[in-house]
Amino acid sequence: MKSWVVVTENGDHGVAAHFGGQALALAQLDMLEPAPGLVIVALGLDEQGVLALCRGIRMRPEPRCYLAPIVAVDRYLPQRPELASTVDLLLESPLSSAATQTEIERVADPILHAIDGLPEVGRDANVGAKVLRYLWSRNLELVPQPSSGNVRGYVYPPVEPFFDRSDESAFQVLDFLEAEHLVRGEFVDHVHLCHFCGSAFLNFVETCPQCEGKDLERDDLVHHFPCGYMGNSREFGGDGRDKICPKCGERLRGLGTDYDKPSLVYSCRSCRHVFQEPEIATLCYNCRRPGRPEDLVERDVKRYALTALGEHSAVHGLDALFHRLLDERLHLVDMETFKLFLQVEAARIRRYKISTSTVALLELPGLQHLYARFGSRAREVFGEFASILKGVLRMTDIVASLSDTAFLILLVETPSEGAEVAMRRLREEAGRVFADEAEVAATLRTKIVPVDPEADPESCIEALLA
Ligand SMILES: [Zn+2]
Ligand SMILES: [Zn+2]
Ligand SMILES: [Zn+2]
Repeated sequence: MKSWVVVTENGDHGVAAHFGGQALALAQLDMLEPAPGLVIVALGLDEQGVLALCRGIRMRPEPRCYLAPIVAVDRYLPQRPELASTVDLLLESPLSSAATQTEIERVADPILHAIDGLPEVGRDANVGAKVLRYLWSRNLELVPQPSSGNVRGYVYPPVEPFFDRSDESAFQVLDFLEAEHLVRGEFVDHVHLCHFCGSAFLNFVETCPQCEGKDLERDDLVHHFPCGYMGNSREFGGDGRDKICPKCGERLRGLGTDYDKPSLVYSCRSCRHVFQEPEIATLCYNCRRPGRPEDLVERDVKRYALTALGEHSAVHGLDALFHRLLDERLHLVDMETFKLFLQVEAARIRRYKISTSTVALLELPGLQHLYARFGSRAREVFGEFASILKGVLRMTDIVASLSDTAFLILLVETPSEGAEVAMRRLREEAGRVFADEAEVAATLRTKIVPVDPEADPESCIEALLA
């Protein structure tokens, strides 16, 4: 059972009706409802339209949407290899033919079957998890393609639509997945990138070691064996045959016979300096900054395939790394246990009539962006923050996770003022650890309430979340 959605420039109903499907205009993509068996057909869109459609679909959080098979049909679509691997199927033949229908089903059915096999089909906010599920649902190996459309000089066409800024993110997320052993990278190419902006588009030019000028004259150095004279080829006159040695006046006979050209010689048109070993300078076409080859960032470009762990994580979800690291260091308790501790603490305070304990909420709303930003360093950075958190808390404090990005802490024997000092320190440290190198404002949000001896645990937690 398929649910066809035919996307055209204006939402043409006639063609959609032919399928018994829904018609949608490109501008209405956000109205798309996730449905079992969803197949998207792009009809009559140009290349930019198809790319916009892919982005609109792949950026959605619902697996039934972002994993949906996309078929682009148009007789006039240029057969670009990048476009062909961005959509699931690129068809030239008319949509109405039986052969086309069969071809669409051949490609779409295994993908839809994979989506149906996912345990809970909810929402995936983590782009790493989305890429993982996409590769798994297509049984796909990601192969980098050289491209002038991306400053890195390489793109991964099938997954580019998952990223809003395509320059860095795909590389960072693939780095992260490889560092977590979810994909296996295999060497394809080695690139040199601008160390300011990461661009692969660089000019390499010889410069004068004396004045750094680029306007150089290149000439062969000529060595005349009989008299031992060595000089610029220009000094010997003539081009080709009629070269005369300026020292002994003999006509040169043949290269390798009575003379050779041991190297190039450069003369600077700016300062007249003559030399054999020029310096090399680079100029970045993207940020226009000059540099030297030794400053360039070297990087391997790889092809990626899912590992067994990656396949498992694609189906069962990417166990949030941050959550895992906190658990390793702080031994998170589950929510039921947390509520029990809270209840016991309230009873204790009721009995001794002094309220000294506080509950705190920690939230890191920008966490998903940090995964993408830090790439393979995510483990190290999150680990550092988890250690700081451990340092601020006491052995007796109880930590539970409310979600992948929100945590509850029971600060035992800590009055509100003390808890506020601890939270301020955590916010400062989070700002330092997360914002230092990533230029993203990943803020840690905190909130505290004193443990109310008369209230039940639920209302205490509700007060925090309000
Ligand atoms: Zn010079
Ligand atoms: Zn000579
Ligand atoms: Zn640059």
